[in-house]
Amino acid sequence: KYKSYPYERMQKIREQNISPSLRMYYQKPLLLHQGHMQWLVDYEGQRYLDLFAGIVTVSVGHCHPKVTVAAQKQLARLWHTANIYMHPSIHEYAEKLTSLLPDPLKVVYLTNSGSEANDLAMFMSRLYTRNFDIISFRGAYHGGSPYTLGLTSVGLYKHSVANGFGCSTTMLPDVFRGPWGGSHCRDSPVQTVRKCSCSEGVTSYCLAALPCCFQSGVCHANDQYIEQFKDTLNTSVPKTIAGFIAEPIQGVNGAVQYPRSFLKEAYQLVRERGGVCISDEVQTGFGRTGSHFWGFETHGVVPDIVTLAKGIGNGFPMAAVVTTKDIASSLAQNLHFNTFGGSPLACVVGAAVLDAIEEDGLQKNCEDVGTYMLLELAKLRDEFEVVGDVRGKGLMIGVEMVTDKDSRHPLPAEEISQIWEDCKDMGVLIGRGGLYSQTFRIKPPMCINKKDVDFAVEVLRTALQRHMERAAAK
Ligand code: PMP
Repeated sequence: KYKSYPYERMQKIREQNISPSLRMYYQKPLLLHQGHMQWLVDYEGQRYLDLFAGIVTVSVGHCHPKVTVAAQKQLARLWHTANIYMHPSIHEYAEKLTSLLPDPLKVVYLTNSGSEANDLAMFMSRLYTRNFDIISFRGAYHGGSPYTLGLTSVGLYKHSVANGFGCSTTMLPDVFRGPWGGSHCRDSPVQTVRKCSCSEGVTSYCLAALPCCFQSGVCHANDQYIEQFKDTLNTSVPKTIAGFIAEPIQGVNGAVQYPRSFLKEAYQLVRERGGVCISDEVQTGFGRTGSHFWGFETHGVVPDIVTLAKGIGNGFPMAAVVTTKDIASSLAQNLHFNTFGGSPLACVVGAAVLDAIEEDGLQKNCEDVGTYMLLELAKLRDEFEVVGDVRGKGLMIGVEMVTDKDSRHPLPAEEISQIWEDCKDMGVLIGRGGLYSQTFRIKPPMCINKKDVDFAVEVLRTALQRHMERAAAK
């Protein structure tokens, strides 16, 4: 079918007819033909292990047979009703989805993208609380729509147009890059520790001025970050706020994890000021963190609103907001309409994805394979000076590259890019993230296995060895 579209012709069309705001991965972007589970195949027949899953979107596997068959059957029957008529699919889906969420998160609103879901979450929190201000973390990505762009705090995605009224950002409790350390305070099977001069001799990057907390298990970093959060509440927003939104593990910024008790304490502070707490589960939901089905559960909190997208449809464009009856009723004072949200096709796909997660044991797979991968990657961190941090939970993993472990300066982008290109040439696709694009993001389809991990880690090891050889030859 695509014989008349050679690579050069497509490049020309891109230049002329496709928005230049879309940026491609790799010097020579891949020309993909097919996908199967954790694998992608290009038009030359080269196979790639996909460790980025279309930006954390392919949850159960590319073209998962169960989801594909469910979609095909529904395609032949009825695509669309605009939800002005009844169809069983939305009822089945709403029942299935909410059965996986704790009380009182029982009311679903279906949308088509994560930005739309977060838009609606902002809208509902403002309607419900009758307050306006919403807080998000620096480094967060919550969407590219004009409304959510106020919450998104990554310079690369900001545009110089008026946006973000009533949106304030607060310091990111990044225990690796932040000033107070505390990487042992995060909920991960791997900890990045280093020797230091304090009395106990080993620290998880805490400042020497703070008592060493790795041995004692105390997390001083958390107290510092909570002080910063309070500072935002006291200085940047009015006395009462509409809400606070955070991912359980920050995705676009490179799987950044916060101290274990941060969200619990922050939620309390937000609620004291009349705000609602929103958990953006667009990347962390559906079992990806392994130990729990939802990322917020790993922090021991129950949000007031949860937003879902990406993995919810395994690549099919659908998303959702789940909230309480009370908050949902704030939107019911008038109509709120979404043409495509909750179509029979989307709901059938969504239900098949939930079935596949359960039948294929994917949450447990995330826990087992993710933990194995984190431990294998931690070996690379110990072997190579430039691998500064390995972190994450389940199959939500970040590998942060640095010039050296002491300074933690980000490895220059060109050097990281070469390692990344080498991995691609050896058949492994990895994501990038972080303010300086310094973190490898590993968030594969949840069906990968330990053999895939061995292959991926060996490829990364080879790419890192080549990097060391290049550096030595300079
Ligand atoms: N929230 C998070 C955490 C995301 O990663 C993204 C997309 N990268 C969004 C929201 C926005 O989703 P969408 O691109 O579907 O609008």
